[in-house]
Amino acid sequence: LQGEAGWGSEQPGMVESVPDFNSFVTRTNTCGELRSAHVGQKVTLYGWVQYQRQGLFLVLRDFQGLTQVIIPQDEAHSHLKELLSSAPLESVVRVTGTVSPRPLGQENPKMPTGDIEVKAETAEILNSCKKLPFEIKDFIKKSEALRMQYRYLDLRSPRLQSALRLRSRLVMSMRQYLCNLHGFVDVETPTLFKRTPGGAKEFLVPSREPGKFYSLPQSPQQFKQLLMVGGLDRYFQVARCYRDEGSRPDRQPEFTQIDIEMSFVDQAGIQRLVEGLLQHSWPEERGSIMTPFPSMTYEEALAEYGTDKPDTRFGMKIVDISDVLRGSGVHFVQNALSYPHGSIRAICIPQGVKYLTNKDLESLKESHCTDHALTFSQEIMEIIRKPDGSLKSLLTKFLGEKEKSELIQALNMQEDDVVLLAAGEHKQCCALGALRLLSANLLEAAGLALRDPTAFHFLWVVDFPLFLPKAENPTELESAHHPFTAPHPSDASLLYSDPTKVRSQHYDLVLNGNEVGGGSIRIHNAEQQRFVLEKVLKEDSEVLSHLIEALELGAPPHGGIALGLDRLISLIVDAPSIRDVIAFPKSFRGRDLMGNAPDYVTPEELEPYHIQVSWPLEEKEAKKN
Ligand code: ASP
Repeated sequence: LQGEAGWGSEQPGMVESVPDFNSFVTRTNTCGELRSAHVGQKVTLYGWVQYQRQGLFLVLRDFQGLTQVIIPQDEAHSHLKELLSSAPLESVVRVTGTVSPRPLGQENPKMPTGDIEVKAETAEILNSCKKLPFEIKDFIKKSEALRMQYRYLDLRSPRLQSALRLRSRLVMSMRQYLCNLHGFVDVETPTLFKRTPGGAKEFLVPSREPGKFYSLPQSPQQFKQLLMVGGLDRYFQVARCYRDEGSRPDRQPEFTQIDIEMSFVDQAGIQRLVEGLLQHSWPEERGSIMTPFPSMTYEEALAEYGTDKPDTRFGMKIVDISDVLRGSGVHFVQNALSYPHGSIRAICIPQGVKYLTNKDLESLKESHCTDHALTFSQEIMEIIRKPDGSLKSLLTKFLGEKEKSELIQALNMQEDDVVLLAAGEHKQCCALGALRLLSANLLEAAGLALRDPTAFHFLWVVDFPLFLPKAENPTELESAHHPFTAPHPSDASLLYSDPTKVRSQHYDLVLNGNEVGGGSIRIHNAEQQRFVLEKVLKEDSEVLSHLIEALELGAPPHGGIALGLDRLISLIVDAPSIRDVIAFPKSFRGRDLMGNAPDYVTPEELEPYHIQVSWPLEEKEAKKN
């Protein structure tokens, strides 16, 4: 119990001085503070009853730690004994007493306060706790829905306490870096605004003007650019953003960005700023990070890792083996290579024979079918290098000795490695990228140490295309980042002739295979902005007339970035979900399970907004019953 992980073990890494936790309040000390040096002092502690044993002692807990309180056994204190031994767990208690050394041999080295105990003299139950829906220490074992319903109880756990406190320290340190060291101005921007075209779906907020709605901005993008036009020069904000993207795993309808914009800056300038910012605010207890971060082009990322957010903590890169197989008579190879961008690519899974079961391999080969349908209806093919050095595969009988040895060389295949191979035009890279990650998870689950869990691999991904074909209609284009992103200077003229070939000044920051930031140098020329909106994206530029006009009225060149704070913190604390670093998160379906939001409102409440609900039939029936 007393060595319970987390309590009092976290040292503040980012603040220079230790804050005074006891100012303004009636306690003398926190429950994590007392040491041998305090022996003899009379103290007053407040906390929650974590544990109580047979009327002999109890353990009091607060945000900082645990203190053992000894319950007096003499007749004169029978009332106190009765009071403390009957206090239910999680009751809120005040204890006044004297700090004493623990009897020899009873010290607890796992507990920061383990050398002392407090001999209670007076106490008060400030709030007796009713029967809990479950014990705090068992919380982690309960379903997430139940924990979210009782979020305030879950918040008492060391896990959430330390994540939220680390988050607070990190943000403070970022503010210090940006405002105090580099002259940024913290500006709040509105959350009631209007639709921004060409991005994520936004939440609507009804207004009292019939038929008119506000939108909750998906990011302060327009405002931060307008602040540059307004001469603010360097802006930042801890900005709440809203995206109505439906149910998506590990996304939140509202989330927080560290939002940044600067005038007279280029891509390298933003990158150096972000590297400095992260280095400055990085929690000491997580080691240090090296800057500058490595950089990779979008094209390289897709070709070698099959994704625009590569996890560079391990190899298993995708290798193009088209040239090795070109001369073989294999039908699907010839077929794939006859297409303009056709190729044969593969990944090599180290020690796959040892660590992956046949079932694992089958599930890997099947997994691509659902997510990344390959062209030419081609299956993922497997090649095994046997302990005697030879290859085992359906393919081998079509390959000569030279091709086999070139294949081994190209993929650096060792004994017991398994190669997964796919043919296609483009999509096989994404399929192999997904297989690379799945294989890594399987290898690790089977005990192979592939990724260092304490490593932080930052990576810039640059030179994205400015536009990508829309998933739902590939003949139309959409912005790879957003419509305000400037073209790459060397491709600017292509914008008017072949927009699909234009690279952009958009950069993403990736950490351990997760996108933790993205930004761009912006278009500051009104004509170019109008062209992108109207001619390329086929959007109504009227919605953005205020921004385009501002670009005509002395807009400086500018650029910026936004860091996803929730994701960044979840990676730093190694939490499985961003919900673990948000005090009051929403469920997978975007619901607040504690307060039950969203909730119904009455027709009367809707009246001022000129809105009526058109109930789906089944709900109408359900309401009737
Ligand atoms: N507003 C952008 C985003 O939310 C970031 C940026 O371009 O600065 O992704």
